[in-house]
Order: sequence, then structure tokens, then C-alpha cells
Amino acid sequence: MPQPTIDIRNLNKTYYLGHEPLHVLKNINFRVEKGEFVAILGPSGSGKSTLMNVLGCIDVADDGEYFLDGAPVHSLKDNQLTQLRNQHIGFIFQNYNLIPTYSVVQNIVAPLLMRGMSYREAEAQSQSTIEMLGLTERRRHKPTELSGGQQQRVSVARALVGSPSVLLADEPTGALDSHTGEEVLKLFRRLNDLGNTIIMITHSIEVASIASRIVHIIDGELSES
Ligand code: ADP
Ligand code: MG
Repeated sequence: MPQPTIDIRNLNKTYYLGHEPLHVLKNINFRVEKGEFVAILGPSGSGKSTLMNVLGCIDVADDGEYFLDGAPVHSLKDNQLTQLRNQHIGFIFQNYNLIPTYSVVQNIVAPLLMRGMSYREAEAQSQSTIEMLGLTERRRHKPTELSGGQQQRVSVARALVGSPSVLLADEPTGALDSHTGEEVLKLFRRLNDLGNTIIMITHSIEVASIASRIVHIIDGELSES
């Protein structure tokens, strides 16, 4: 058996608001093989973004084990997590999270610069991704000069450019009109066909249905459909 991309065992997370504990992730067991396209479907407040932050090594769980490409995330230090995140995770957010003062190309190469690559090398490496996403004509533009769909394509390019192990998308079509949202979902399908592993978080069954596998989260509990 090849090593899974994501292997989570008995993971828990509780938030404390004052003295009130809020058990947000409840004994999560979750495995994603390389090349899968999984949707995590759940209503607002069910723990989706918390799970995404844990998956993306932005936040840590209280207990349990998390192996990302075999690396024991649960026992890594902050600086190791930062490096793991940069090498293994490509993030796509609902509101794109682009840097407004940067051009399209400067946004896209940011994860490569963080790895210590020179700007010249990073720009060369990003060229094929920029072309694939149809952004060549827009490469010198600022995010505010782009439509929502174009901005989301920039964020997809930024997520892809470092060849991460997994693309993590949190409500990627949430800020888009339905036509543009569909285009982004088709793009995800295509990226998955090309071999990219994708985990997409959504509250919409319609959006989730583009994925090959749907996992439900309700009140912090995960279950396969
Ligand atoms: P979803 O993304 O599914 O809407 P979240 O993961 O954002 O859900 O939130 C799950 C629950 O945890 C909610 O009840 C939310 O209010 C709570 N929560 C989220 N983040 C925090 C935090 N930093 N501190 C305390 N409670 C939080
Ligand atoms: Mg959320």
C-alpha cells in the first residue's frame, strides 16, 4: 500500500471561551489517498474551517495523530510546521486572500520566494501554471483590477505553483456567482484529472457533488456518505 497523503487518527480540538469548553472536532479519523478529490460537507458552525486549519498545519489539535505524507504533524515544532505547510499544502480561500499591492505574478510566486528561491527562478517556474490558468495577459495587473473568477484563478495558481501534496480549498466558490463558481469547480475537476489531490470544504451539496468522495461533518463529527 502506498503511503496516504493524509492520515488522521482520533483527533480532537476544543476551544475555550471563558470557562465554557466548545468541543469542535470530535475524535476525527480521516484518510486521503494520493490523487483523491474529497469534499468535506457540513453546515455553518460544524467545524469545517477548524478542520481545514488543522489539515493545513495553521492550527494544531489537542490530541490525536496527524501524518501528512508520512510526516508526524502532531509532534512537529512551529518552525517545522511552517516549512511543512509551505512545501506540502496549497491553500485556496473563499475570499482569495491575495496581497492587494502585489501584481498577479508577485502573488503567485510568493510561496516559492518563501522557500528561498530567487525571484527570477520563481517567475520562470510559475510560467506554465500562469499559462494553464489563462492569466498570462493579466500577469502585471493588481488583484483589484480582476474579476472574482480571475482572482480565484490567481489564488489557484499560487496554490499550485509549488507542487504541493494537497490542495485545500475552503468554500472556493462562496464569493462567486453561480456561472463563475461552476468554472472554478470544472477547473478543480481538471486539476484532479491531472493528478492533484484536492480537499474541498463546502456547505453546499451541489458544490460537493463535483468531488469523487463526500465526507460529512456535523457538530464536529466526521462520517463517510
Ligand atoms: P464552519 O467553518 O463549519 O462554519 P468553524 O470551524 O469556523 O465552523 O467553527 C466551529 C465552531 O467553533 C463554531 O461554533 C465557532 O463559533 C467556533 N470557533 C471557531 N473558531 C473559534 C475560536 N478561535 N475560538 C472559539 N471558538 C471558535
Ligand atoms: Mg468556515
